[in-house]
Amino acid sequence: MNSKNAQTTGGIHDKGGHSARTSYINAVNRRALVSTSHNPHAHDDDDESSRICRKGTTHPRGAAPPADPRGHRRRSKDGKKAPSAVNPLVPSVSAIRNKPHPIGTDLHILKGDVATCATGRILGHEGTGVVHSVGASVTTFKPGDRVIVSCITSCMSCEFCRKGLASHCVDGGWILGHTIDGTQAEYVRVPHADGSLHHLISGASEAAQAMCSDVLPTGFECGVLSGRVKPGSSVAIVGGGPIGLGIVLTAQLYSPSSLIMITRDANRLKIAASLGATHCITFGPNAAEEVMALTGGRGVDTVIEAAGVPGTFDLCQDLVAVGGTIANLGVHGCKVDLHLDKLWHKNIAITTSLVDTVSTGMLLKLLSSGKIKTDALVTHTFSFAEMLDAYSTFGAAAEHKAIKVIIDF
Ligand SMILES: [Zn+2]
Repeated sequence: MNSKNAQTTGGIHDKGGHSARTSYINAVNRRALVSTSHNPHAHDDDDESSRICRKGTTHPRGAAPPADPRGHRRRSKDGKKAPSAVNPLVPSVSAIRNKPHPIGTDLHILKGDVATCATGRILGHEGTGVVHSVGASVTTFKPGDRVIVSCITSCMSCEFCRKGLASHCVDGGWILGHTIDGTQAEYVRVPHADGSLHHLISGASEAAQAMCSDVLPTGFECGVLSGRVKPGSSVAIVGGGPIGLGIVLTAQLYSPSSLIMITRDANRLKIAASLGATHCITFGPNAAEEVMALTGGRGVDTVIEAAGVPGTFDLCQDLVAVGGTIANLGVHGCKVDLHLDKLWHKNIAITTSLVDTVSTGMLLKLLSSGKIKTDALVTHTFSFAEMLDAYSTFGAAAEHKAIKVIIDF
């Protein structure tokens, strides 16, 4: 490790009172986290990120599931001092309020599809904000910077991060709004900030750039790349939510000959067509037949499952062509049937993936240059006080013609 990091490491050790054993900054941070959990009072109150952490660590465990995704925000304002379970010396950043935070996968959590999300968790893994304070070893960001919070936290140094699989980072991955408190609050603490934030760019609105927290990289990496979309190939997307529509946008980077959107929601079919889908089909018993009619009975080369329910995965299996790929990115809350009796001889591939956000920088450049436009995905904006209305609206998306809902603090 270079001398700069070694110096930073030393600083951490001095402040935390630990003896130095390694110069690798990620190892130091990980150890600091562990040691803090055994000694929650080890850190003083002069670190802003520590105070922010406490907002998220006063939640009771084992209570009923949160009807209010804001968790226990009001309780955190009582001024009581509580021990932080998170080391403030980890390279973290705290983003300040008044910036938009979209909701999406959070509905799956409220439905109970994500068993690893504890009761009382503040939800939210997407958003933009202004850096309020930084931990001692953050090098890329400073207070006042306007940033995008990635849905994936990356230490940039563990085995998985080095393989480009930050979704499985041993000290990160999908943790915001999942295993640690997330973005739907006035402040959020972002661990491993250097690997988990991006600077806002010029050339696109802040709301449009918030789509680079999750929607665009997930659609592109888990749908387009995993699905091996190629020039001239045929593509079907089953599921017309924000990520399905993000796939419509990013699949066109590879010039497929056909781009078929299949969803139940008529409004989303219309939007898909406006974004570049070549064919729009209503999800239902006739959908497979309609796709077969479009493809001369061959099916499609890439079928992307972007809904996360058994019926849509069934349809994907009906649609995939010989030699094709089914790319699953839906969050499945129950088991699905795999029809190997129909697929065993078709030389297909089935992929599953959690986004690694390795494409976020590239996607931001495309947003900045205007090659991709995400404004149509943001349909509703609510204030923080209207949070429950935001969830109700997104929960009845078809009725409200909602695609992506923003909470503006
Ligand atoms: Zn890592």
